[in-house]
Parts: sequence; C-alpha cells; structure tokens
Amino acid sequence: MYTYLCKDGRCRCVYKDENGYHTKSYPRYLMEQKLGRLLEPYEDVHHIDGDPSNNNPDNLCVELHVEHEKKHNPQKYSDKVVRCCVCNKEFILSALQQKYRTQNRYRRNTPNDSYFCSKRCSGLYGKSVQQNAGVSEWHRKGT
Ligand SMILES: [Zn+2]
Ligand SMILES: [Zn+2]
Repeated sequence: MYTYLCKDGRCRCVYKDENGYHTKSYPRYLMEQKLGRLLEPYEDVHHIDGDPSNNNPDNLCVELHVEHEKKHNPQKYSDKVVRCCVCNKEFILSALQQKYRTQNRYRRNTPNDSYFCSKRCSGLYGKSVQQNAGVSEWHRKGT
C-alpha cells in the first residue's frame, strides 16, 4: 500500500486486495481500517482540525455526507429570504427547495433570479411566457 498527494491537497492511497489494486481516499481507507468495515457511499470522513493533510486517525471522524457538506458549505445549505417575481411578496426559500430549484432550473428554463412564492405564481409566470411566445409567433406569421 502506498499513498500520494493529489493537487487538491487530499491524500489518496493505492492498495491491493484479492481483487487487485484499488485507489481510494486515504482518510477513508484509514477510517475503514479503524472501524473494521467499509464506509457507506453516504458517509464522509471529516478532518476535525480542518487540515486535509493531517490524516492522524485521531483527527478523523465519520459524518453523513449531507451533514458534512453543510459543515463545509453552510451558505449553500441555509434558508434565505427571496422575493416572488410575480406578486413581489417576500418569502423564505428553504435549503431543500433551493436544491430542488437548482435541479429543475434547466428543465423549466426560468431565469436564475426568478422566485415564485407559490404554485399559483409560478403558473402565472409560465402563462405569461407562453403568451409572449405566442405573440411573437403571431407577428412572424403576419410579416
Ligand atoms: Zn470535512
Ligand atoms: Zn407570488
């Protein structure tokens, strides 16, 4: 087994078992040795002192991936106040909704900064977009 340092400052290791050679995150490997089991895909290894190069087993702990992400990107996972772009009402967009929104943005093709307080407002917005598209279509036919 040997280890090497990646460009991102994280250590990886190459080890061999009955199936051949494998590459894996070194802290992950160490934690699996310590626990005597493989880590689940939803588990991360966190460096307690924040230094990814300090792979002393005492500096490592297991965290659920979601909790770990939260720790490193708190702004990405916190609720925020936004304004509805249809009725102008302020409302709270939860972290979960933000995540859902990011996943759906491309499909729905809505601008980055458009927020809807309700299904109703989102529907109204959709209708106005359709109408605008219809109007320009009609104009094109007319000329
Ligand atoms: Zn961490
Ligand atoms: Zn609204």
